[in-house]
Amino acid sequence: MLTPSEMKDRMHELARTDGLIEGIYNYCDRWCERCAFTSKCLNYASSKDAPSSDGPELWDYLHNVFEATMLMLDEMMENMGIDPEEINKMEPPEEPDPKDHRLYKKVYELSFTVHKWLEQNKPGAPSPEVIDLIPPEDEKTHRFHEALEVVYFYNFFISAKIFRALSGSGDFEPEEVQTDSNGSSKIALIALDRLIAAWSVVMENLMEHEDEILKFLLTLAEIRKQTEITFPLARKFVRPGFDEL
Ligand code: SF4
Repeated sequence: MLTPSEMKDRMHELARTDGLIEGIYNYCDRWCERCAFTSKCLNYASSKDAPSSDGPELWDYLHNVFEATMLMLDEMMENMGIDPEEINKMEPPEEPDPKDHRLYKKVYELSFTVHKWLEQNKPGAPSPEVIDLIPPEDEKTHRFHEALEVVYFYNFFISAKIFRALSGSGDFEPEEVQTDSNGSSKIALIALDRLIAAWSVVMENLMEHEDEILKFLLTLAEIRKQTEITFPLARKFVRPGFDEL
């Protein structure tokens, strides 16, 4: 495993690699297995050094990433003439904490409700009694499993992106489009669109849970609307790479 200092040098080396699209990883959905831009993504290139996610090495690795990032940030601040100590003395921002924002509270609560529901119901998992009798997967079942994969993948993703969007929303002029808040809320909206579609497919296959899933869908639609109202320019944000084709 690379040491923090070697990792920092590797970050610099990767940053100088030709053909990468700057910042592409900030506004994507982080689903690298399905991404057409892996060869142009710094985040993808650097994550290839990571150990497998279920191994015990992971925590040491993440610790080294943290140390390497702090080393790199210190260097950057020095080059810009900023004393890192001054940062520690800065006053907290005056904007309300995003954790208390109505939109974030709603999406956070939904993510945990859905998580609990998935844990309890384990949709798509065969019961032990029929496990030997399962026929080969037909197209409908295949779509159902893909939709479930989308639900699991994006469930917590949306609250993280909305939190990030709210965290920076007071930093820019209201008419500025290419801001981190708009980029973060745009990918949250894309994920919300996909989640709504995926839940519909799941519901078609689990009609016995129709009432519960409808409630999730209604809340998702409400969150989607509130996100669009809170970030009216989000859909106009041009994501590096993805929206430039
Ligand atoms: S841009 Fe593609 S490869 Fe890079 S982090 Fe996002 S999904 Fe993964």
